[in-house]
Amino acid sequence: LWITLEGGDGSGKTTQAELLTERLRADGRTVVRTREPGGSEVGQLIRDIVLHHRGDIAPRAEALLYAADRAHHVATVVRPALARGEVVLQDRYLDSSVAYQGAGRVLDATEVRELSLWAAEGALPDLTVLLDLDPTTARERLDSADKPFDRLEAEREEFHARVRGAYLALAAAEPGRFLVVDAAQPPATIAERIHERVATLVQT
Ligand code: C5P
Ligand code: MG
Repeated sequence: LWITLEGGDGSGKTTQAELLTERLRADGRTVVRTREPGGSEVGQLIRDIVLHHRGDIAPRAEALLYAADRAHHVATVVRPALARGEVVLQDRYLDSSVAYQGAGRVLDATEVRELSLWAAEGALPDLTVLLDLDPTTARERLDSADKPFDRLEAEREEFHARVRGAYLALAAAEPGRFLVVDAAQPPATIAERIHERVATLVQT
């Protein structure tokens, strides 16, 4: 079972990943918690470039860096874990690329998606949870969090509004794969909704 978590910065992906991991482990499942970018050793190096490089990265180069991270991650972490019958719970996947690189308006969303699918040899998760939150609330959460901003977290609010719109469009296009949750709700309520859906997948 492969589950990905999506949503803007500050939408609560990490909190929900932790809560779901606890629950699945309590149910006796082996859970591999991972993320993109940076879910492998090679990916860690790529993450450092895309998040901490000072100065611009050409949009196509950035898209290729994310795709390179993804290709290596899916091949060396995700597929082997799924083959062992484990649950893979992943923070961000190709929908992040479509939403972020696509929302930058420079690249075509379809091309970004195709690049990602090529990188991952077509692999798609069983479930994608979209934690949907308006950018203003997300910004307030990030401002109150006691950690430095990543390069992209510091982007303008208008950019994050486009990212949100792109995510919602992706979810509407693939309602079977997506579960959209209102991320303004209390964490425990959100966790409950996610677990309900996951339970239906675990049984089958
Ligand atoms: O969620 P996480 O902190 O790992 O994301 C790091 C940053 O990379 C975020 O600010 C996100 O906006 C950005 N990102 C991106 N394209 C991706 C994945 C992440 O722009 N495909
Ligand atoms: Mg973040």
